[in-house]
Amino acid sequence: MAEVKSAGHGTSIVSDFLKHSNMHTYHIHINGLVQGVGFRPFVCRQAAIFLVNGWVSNTNDGVHIECSTTPDVFNEFYHALISEPPANAIITHHHYTEVAEKTFTGFIIRHSSHEQKPDLLLTPDIAVCDECKNEISNKNNKRFQYPFTTCLKCGPRYSITTALPYDRENTSMNPLHMCNSCREEYFDISNRRHFSQTNSCSNCAIPMHFYSSPETCLSSDPEEVVEFAISELNRGCIVAVKGIGGYLLLCDATSDSAIALLRNRKQRPAKPFALMYPNLALAAQDVNLRSFEVKALQEKSAPIVLCELKHFSKTGICKEAIAPGLYKIGLMLPCSPLLYMISEHFGKPLIATSGNISGSPIIYNDKDALQNLFGIADYILTYERDIVVPQDDSVMQFSDRGQKIILRRSRGLAPNYFPNPFGPSAKGVLAMGAELKSAFALLDKNNLFVSQYLGDQGTIESQDCFQDTMKHVCSLLKADPAQILVDKHPAYFVSLYGKDIANTTGKHITSIQHHKAHFGAVLAENNLFDTKDPVLGFIWDGTGYGDDGNIWGSEIFIYENREMQRVAHLRYFPQLLGDKMSKEPRLSALCLLANDPQKQFVVQKYFSTQAWQYYQQLLQQPGSILTGSMGRLLDGIAAMLGIRLYNTYEGEAALQLESLARNAAWKPSEYYSIPLINTDLDWSKLIAGVLDDLNRKTDIATIAWKVFFSLAKLVEQMSEHYGINNLAFSGGVFQNALLIDIIIERLSYRKKLFFHQQLSPNDESIGFGQLACFSIARSKKVNYADTDFNNKIKNIQERN
Ligand SMILES: [Zn+2]
Ligand SMILES: [Zn+2]
Repeated sequence: MAEVKSAGHGTSIVSDFLKHSNMHTYHIHINGLVQGVGFRPFVCRQAAIFLVNGWVSNTNDGVHIECSTTPDVFNEFYHALISEPPANAIITHHHYTEVAEKTFTGFIIRHSSHEQKPDLLLTPDIAVCDECKNEISNKNNKRFQYPFTTCLKCGPRYSITTALPYDRENTSMNPLHMCNSCREEYFDISNRRHFSQTNSCSNCAIPMHFYSSPETCLSSDPEEVVEFAISELNRGCIVAVKGIGGYLLLCDATSDSAIALLRNRKQRPAKPFALMYPNLALAAQDVNLRSFEVKALQEKSAPIVLCELKHFSKTGICKEAIAPGLYKIGLMLPCSPLLYMISEHFGKPLIATSGNISGSPIIYNDKDALQNLFGIADYILTYERDIVVPQDDSVMQFSDRGQKIILRRSRGLAPNYFPNPFGPSAKGVLAMGAELKSAFALLDKNNLFVSQYLGDQGTIESQDCFQDTMKHVCSLLKADPAQILVDKHPAYFVSLYGKDIANTTGKHITSIQHHKAHFGAVLAENNLFDTKDPVLGFIWDGTGYGDDGNIWGSEIFIYENREMQRVAHLRYFPQLLGDKMSKEPRLSALCLLANDPQKQFVVQKYFSTQAWQYYQQLLQQPGSILTGSMGRLLDGIAAMLGIRLYNTYEGEAALQLESLARNAAWKPSEYYSIPLINTDLDWSKLIAGVLDDLNRKTDIATIAWKVFFSLAKLVEQMSEHYGINNLAFSGGVFQNALLIDIIIERLSYRKKLFFHQQLSPNDESIGFGQLACFSIARSKKVNYADTDFNNKIKNIQERN
């Protein structure tokens, strides 16, 4: 105070002193998706603006900041950090405390610490941004035509992360060193590559190679490599190019012979291929782009979006060869600068499909690619930045009414799920998911992860990929979940693997019925756990092991007071030869007509005499497995209509039935009735109606339309019957955009409709749904006078 008294020496001394005396030191902790998004450079810039001294650091539990300033300035600084974080960041938690006063000189980025157990979200891969694209196209830029241009806003993240926290030494960029000019950018606070961990340029380039056989590298000159790829694509060859989540097979989408070659070598007779366009303007020449599709295509996840084909394609794509019998094609914009350059220079649409051997996961490792992809590709373009985890491209579509439907959740979308509807878990829960379209889910501390699509677990390669990815994610997060959740199916590989882990480590294990998991998933996605009004769930898919030992797949549940009750399902019919039935819609037709010899003639022509007798015998045998699968019902109808007798890929018959129905010239408001008898939905009138219409020579497209209209009508009738107005939908059947639109059109004005949001209605959501059912079951054990769901879960988990 003495110095204040001698203030007469000059006002500047007084104000300096007052300012100094008002200095406080604060510690800020920000959690969420805060690594690999330029958060530290952002904090530095804000510190420079507010003239705040101190430091920022990355740790395994998020970003920590310490600074000294006056309370007023601190408030503004803190507000700026929280309210306008970098574009790709997600803040889940933030708080500050005042600590003992310290004096800092300037503001620095401190070395990252990795001691704690990670408590953060994993940053997904981000598609090349417009600024980087501009640099690649600018002759005067240092990164002109540089195929690995990235910045703070874009580039690979999850796919190159080997450990946390996210720093170059914890990525597969580690062996590559920045040149002096890149280092200058890296340390320059005003540069858009300040502290960019993926920074490189043509002086310190990632080496590239172009192979014509596993032993023959034709070129390692970056310019030549891209030129070679383009000229071979122009010659009608198939070129495998290393992407972000794995190798992609590219060929000219305007060449029938190139596509035929790819189909032949990939043993993929009819499954549609996705296309890559260099820009939206070119895409618009082939498909009708609506605003929501344009927006989705430009998302930082750069997904494949299914769009409606135009009647006349201007670029000359071979529509029938690309997507036989379908009215939509999948298209995407390039997600990486390398793909962007190839696409730009090629100037036409390219087929871009996952580089895998039929049935196996996408190949992402260079050695595997050179060993295995030459059976399909003529050339392989590779580079020396390892992909740590495989990811296919994400796929989505929109119904005509704009309802988003995720068909595959992978690169750019996985592995975070935010916000976490289950609340924190101190000990962790791992849900193994389902067998087809597998994806595991992990609840770890405050964070929820739903893995990328990990394929069908029918091959050793898929099983290895599932195990490796799960171990990798658990190791990144240092997670050791105490509880394991599995599907009830006794023979799922993922369930057996879960049981194996539980047996060897003594963890708790709980099994959860498949369709209940589906229902739990859509309830959790829509925050309906605590709803006061009951919810009627329509869970329709191909297959799932039921509580009664039969194959379920057309469940109607009521959710009320945290209980799920199965109230109705399609009347059971025989399930012949397990998996074979899902591959041969003609078998579904036969099973649906098993008790009606008069009508069987409709499909008898699709069997040889021998086969017919054999299947008739099988049907006579007692004790056969029964199913109530909606997927098989639709397959059977597709076969009766002669649309598809065999599926060459999963869901082919159903997709073609949808395509046909959508484009029907006549769409009457007539429906086939499906009456409810006790708990059985009797589909025999539906089948009889279809066959009558067929007899009357009604256009099969109109019959297909009436089938979907009848299903929407069934939803309406069930809603009236049970007097429930909250309707939720999950299961693979609800990937059908037409069915969703009819439901929305007929019901949205008087019912509340709930669909999946971030997850797919297909089995990729099962792991998440298992967590949902587990949360619901746990919450039943407590007396919940309070209404805050997260608190309840938190209480239970803390107690356990
Ligand atoms: Zn960028
Ligand atoms: Zn460089």
